[in-house]
Amino acid sequence: VPDLVQIRSRPLARGQAGPEADDVVTPEGVAKVYIETYGCQMNEADSSLILGQMKRAGYARTKQPEDADVILVNTCAVREAAEDRVYGRTSQLAALRAQKPHLVVGITGCMAEHLREKLETTAPYVNLVVGPDSYRNLPSLVESALGGARAVDVSLDKTEVYEGLDGDTASDGISGYATIQRGCDKFCTFCVVPFTRGRERSVPPREILRQVRHLAEHGYREVTLLGQTVNSYRYESATFAQLLAAVCEVEGIQRVRFTSPYPVDFTDDVIEAMATQPKLCPYVHLPVQSGSDRVLERMKRGYTREQYVELVRKLRVIPDLAISTDLMVGFCGETEDDHEQTLALIREIGFASAFMFRYSDRDITYASKRLQDDVPDEVKARRLKEVIDLQETFTRADHQARIGKDETILISGVSRRQNYLLGRTARLQSALVPLGSAKPGDMITRRITATTGHTLIAADPLH
Ligand code: SF4
Repeated sequence: VPDLVQIRSRPLARGQAGPEADDVVTPEGVAKVYIETYGCQMNEADSSLILGQMKRAGYARTKQPEDADVILVNTCAVREAAEDRVYGRTSQLAALRAQKPHLVVGITGCMAEHLREKLETTAPYVNLVVGPDSYRNLPSLVESALGGARAVDVSLDKTEVYEGLDGDTASDGISGYATIQRGCDKFCTFCVVPFTRGRERSVPPREILRQVRHLAEHGYREVTLLGQTVNSYRYESATFAQLLAAVCEVEGIQRVRFTSPYPVDFTDDVIEAMATQPKLCPYVHLPVQSGSDRVLERMKRGYTREQYVELVRKLRVIPDLAISTDLMVGFCGETEDDHEQTLALIREIGFASAFMFRYSDRDITYASKRLQDDVPDEVKARRLKEVIDLQETFTRADHQARIGKDETILISGVSRRQNYLLGRTARLQSALVPLGSAKPGDMITRRITATTGHTLIAADPLH
């Protein structure tokens, strides 16, 4: 534990004078860290890792930025809009320095890596910049920033998988993550991830199992295995299917999920496991991006529309499977015909849900350097609306089709909707059950009696 943190962790006696502006001791005595997360589940898992690191270094978590000594914004660089939001938010948070001059405001994650030194001029109020492979050093970097330095570490490390570091287990205590792979080697032409998260590397199975057991010992019932292309996992001779089998064996874990698989890397043994192992949830998020071969080729996705459709046909052996996807409209050179093919693919597959975006140019990618972002904004907007409107009919229909079925629901907490608890089905749909009929952490079976179109409602008791 660094000396500075030890000083900061010493409680102040009641009535003791408050700190001078340059004194590192907080009025409450324990330094507090506040974190906000943007982007994907990988970032959520990284935020948990960051919190675990900070807590081990003696910091307490606060959910109020006004109470914090260290504010961290864990960021995403996949879309420009996400970066713009982070600029706005960090400048707002940095204004809290008016009351707390020693306040550290840090940007962590993909945006830290993507914009690196540029942040010094574009976000001068940020005094800590830490990339996704440098969280091991975070406490000492924070210490430097508290000491008045501008602390930056954006080095990428081909071997860093954070072995031995547990995340903060104090989130909902029900659903947890285990990152089994970091980085990406696919280099899709639109994507910054291989640049911001570095080369693909898999975590040793013994470490993954240690982390999953740690979650189970803390009462977690569900674990999601994470990787940018999670099913390309390979550690020495251990395959993804073998890893799934081993994780399903962990006592106390009742549900196992993984995300996001890469279509090309889906193997028959994983499909077989999903069809037969009851702990593996019948849900696959299978990003397709486009229904047009021309566009898929330009994106360098490595599969054709036909190969994707064939994979989905094979996956349908998994009983009651829900398939979701990512769809990107307006990629470089996308024509009306390409767009029509994407709409046709949505109709053909019948995705249970989808994440839908318009293409935004990311400066360091192949597409930015070599292809022309030539679809006008208003055309992108119109195509996105058409994709969203069409997908919406399938999302609603998928929910409607659950009425009358019995679903196993893992209760995660109290719903914002009065008198209901919120949970998720194995197919990852939100479900409401009446308050008092179960408690968070329970896995219950209830018959679905209604839907809002995006949420299932279960009657109680089962009848
Ligand atoms: S598979 Fe493609 S889209 Fe996904 S993270 Fe890797 S490069 Fe990006």
